[in-house]
Amino acid sequence: SLTNRLQNVFGKLRGKGKLSEDDVNEAMREVRLALLEADVNFKVVKDFVAKVKEQAVGVEVQKSFTPGMVVVDIVHKELIELMGGSATKIAKASKPPTVILMAGLQGAGKTTTTAKLAMMLMKGNHKPLLIAGDIYRPAAIKQLQVLGEQIKAPVFTLGNDVSPVEIARQGLQFAKANSHDYVIVDTAGRLQIDEALMEELKQIHEVVQPDEVLLVVDAMTGQEAVNVAKSFHEQLELTGVVLTKMDGDTRGGAALSVKAVTGCPIKFVSMGEKIEPLESFHPERMASRILGMGDMLSLIEKAQSSIDADKAAEMERKMRNAEFTFEDFLEQMEQVRKLGPLDQLLDMLPGMNKVKGMKDMKVDDKQINRVEAIVRSMTTDEKRNPDLLNYSRRRRIAAGSGTNIAEVNRLIKQFEEMRKMMKQFSGMMGKGGKGMKGL
Ligand code: GDP
Ligand code: MG
Repeated sequence: SLTNRLQNVFGKLRGKGKLSEDDVNEAMREVRLALLEADVNFKVVKDFVAKVKEQAVGVEVQKSFTPGMVVVDIVHKELIELMGGSATKIAKASKPPTVILMAGLQGAGKTTTTAKLAMMLMKGNHKPLLIAGDIYRPAAIKQLQVLGEQIKAPVFTLGNDVSPVEIARQGLQFAKANSHDYVIVDTAGRLQIDEALMEELKQIHEVVQPDEVLLVVDAMTGQEAVNVAKSFHEQLELTGVVLTKMDGDTRGGAALSVKAVTGCPIKFVSMGEKIEPLESFHPERMASRILGMGDMLSLIEKAQSSIDADKAAEMERKMRNAEFTFEDFLEQMEQVRKLGPLDQLLDMLPGMNKVKGMKDMKVDDKQINRVEAIVRSMTTDEKRNPDLLNYSRRRRIAAGSGTNIAEVNRLIKQFEEMRKMMKQFSGMMGKGGKGMKGL
């Protein structure tokens, strides 16, 4: 996958104290291939790589973080830029109702997305009306009606003997008369873009004067989705793209190319056939997802400013060699505390919720004091060699720290989990790195 490939590239850069121009060139060659293989538009790839390269050459060696990490950071920022920078909101007409026109090829997910969008709006206390504008596909109206019932949103239809343009016109009137503040017009799609389809959409557009024209495209179709977006945008002036089937095995090409190729931002992503509120598209989160790093990058930024580099490097060495002890744990806790509220930090770590037992470790700062008390009640030997902690020692520690045996047991168990997790991280972040795992 793209994520794996990029991680490989950055893995190679890690551990280098200094990056030569050759290193950067080699890495960029691989980034380029990875993006092309992920079906990203070739021109987009070319521009992207050029931008990253320009910034990456001559990256300063920082004390605690390898230049490799800095390159990751550059790539991350450029990925965000590529996808449009920040998330955008759905339009809101100054005079309701706000009209949203859905467009797209057959099977892209228009009708499903219409229902998801309505659900999202209803969650925000809006009162959407869905207009059944697909009179061609058998059972298309029924499909929307079933979805409407399911989410408790009214569906306007005139059956399939009236033209979609007329349905849209009357639907809009109905919405105004019944104080709906949003109108979503579901339309028909064809298997391919054709004149008749465009003509009909243009006429509906003319009649309802939409505030949003959302093109629904199937992310699984990669560059094809981008080409579709391009032609629709040329003819219909889209305001946003919805990428559907992001739950599937997409290679990322569509998400990364749409904005750059069409100039039109991705506004929403749809994941799954189940009707749930539509999700806004966050370039930042997507970029992190592509790099497989959760919000690791914001953590790096925070850490860069507050963690003692030499200590972090030493810590990291210990973790790699499984020498990590309760003494280190204590020291780390102090370092981490400097970073801010603990549960917020834990949330930023990738895969955190996947690690068994980590949920309980979501400690608040009061609990942290108890944890500290427990560790401080251990003898130096015990801190250095947690295997010594048998029942009677645990009982002594509980008494000494003013806690109880259950708490002590839990901490020791969590400590073991943490060690396991560190091993996982070491794997993920590549061998021989510096800094990162010092967290
Ligand atoms: P339309 O022809 O554009 O209206 O497409 P539909 O909304 O009828 O969807 C076509 C098929 O794709 C249906 O089987 C949907 O359940 C499915 N579908 C739509 N959106 C998604 C999605 O985000 N993920 C997955 N896995 N399937 C989707
Ligand atoms: Mg449909």
